[in-house]
Amino acid sequence: MNSYRYNASTPFKSGTDRLKNAIRDVPDFPKEGIVFKDLSPVLEDRQLFRLAISMFNDRYQRRQIDTIIGIEARGFIFGSALAYVLGCGFTMVRKKGKLPHKCLEASYDLEYGSNVIEIHEDSLEKGMRVLVIDDVLATGGTMKAAIELAQRLETDVVEAATFIELEFLKGREKLGETPVFSLITY
Ligand code: AMP
Repeated sequence: MNSYRYNASTPFKSGTDRLKNAIRDVPDFPKEGIVFKDLSPVLEDRQLFRLAISMFNDRYQRRQIDTIIGIEARGFIFGSALAYVLGCGFTMVRKKGKLPHKCLEASYDLEYGSNVIEIHEDSLEKGMRVLVIDDVLATGGTMKAAIELAQRLETDVVEAATFIELEFLKGREKLGETPVFSLITY
């Protein structure tokens, strides 16, 4: 599976530039003052979606990841595709009330609103090497809460990965010692 590789067809633009070009800014969604980063055009393009997963794969294929923790909902898209190519497991972190079995929960503030997320308490084993992934790192509250859940289950959080990082919101400063990797920054 790890011979998986995207073959860039446009030599003049970096992969990051091609991905960034495709992201659509939607002003005032879901609330006034928020510029929503809509990555649907990346997913809809067969080359760009593969490119994004290939770039994550390049970074993580030799990091012995046991499982990827994906954050609902768009973290599931990147996380599950990456778990497939890495050949590792995939664990869901979901909004409260969605997971059917016994859960641990953590609450956090969003760039817009607040929320509670959960993980199945038997989904990870102590000492597992995990990667936590989401689509956007904004204020960092969501990622921080997901990392906390992983740490309460005594796993080793190798890194937090995001497709987009809004650097001006300084989300990574909330994540303490956990390293952060993002494909695209604003
Ligand atoms: P935060 O907890 O502030 O880091 O927010 C991250 C979560 O909110 C991610 O799961 C994103 O899907 C979503 N999010 C926050 N801000 C944006 C934005 N400007 N564009 C798209 N998604 C966002």
